[in-house]
Amino acid sequence: MQARRLGRGKPLWEKGVVCAPISRDSWAMRIKLDHVAIAVSDLESAIRDYEALGLSPERIENVPTQKADVAFLDVGGAHIELVAPTDPSSSVARSIDKRGEGLHHICLEVEDIALALAALKAKGVTLVNPEPVPGAGGSRVAFIHPKSMRGVLVELVQKV
Ligand code: ZN
Repeated sequence: MQARRLGRGKPLWEKGVVCAPISRDSWAMRIKLDHVAIAVSDLESAIRDYEALGLSPERIENVPTQKADVAFLDVGGAHIELVAPTDPSSSVARSIDKRGEGLHHICLEVEDIALALAALKAKGVTLVNPEPVPGAGGSRVAFIHPKSMRGVLVELVQKV
């Protein structure tokens, strides 16, 4: 199979061949999946639905900066975050109005969110939050605009 070429550079990949690791920026060395968030209109009934999978909330809290209540369900280290709006003006409420309930964002944990945001800005990535804002559990978070991530809203988190 012919490798796809981007410009005149080396082929990015060849089908059936293990890709060579890219050299990551230092801020991205320990990047990992933290959670997958699902927008729900009613947190309690959503929790009951997910209990069918044997999952139960590890913690439930209000996140004022997102105008939302969130429940985190552990799935082997990563989490499912159920996000319910507490105000019709919140972005998750607008998302449910537009697209209905469902997948809302993915969240990647980074060690140094300020460094990550600076690197992303330098690469021309469009950020919803150019500076970190307070997130759940005392964390600092920032969202990357879906137009820079193939239609997926991506949250970065730095834990305390
Ligand atoms: Zn999240």
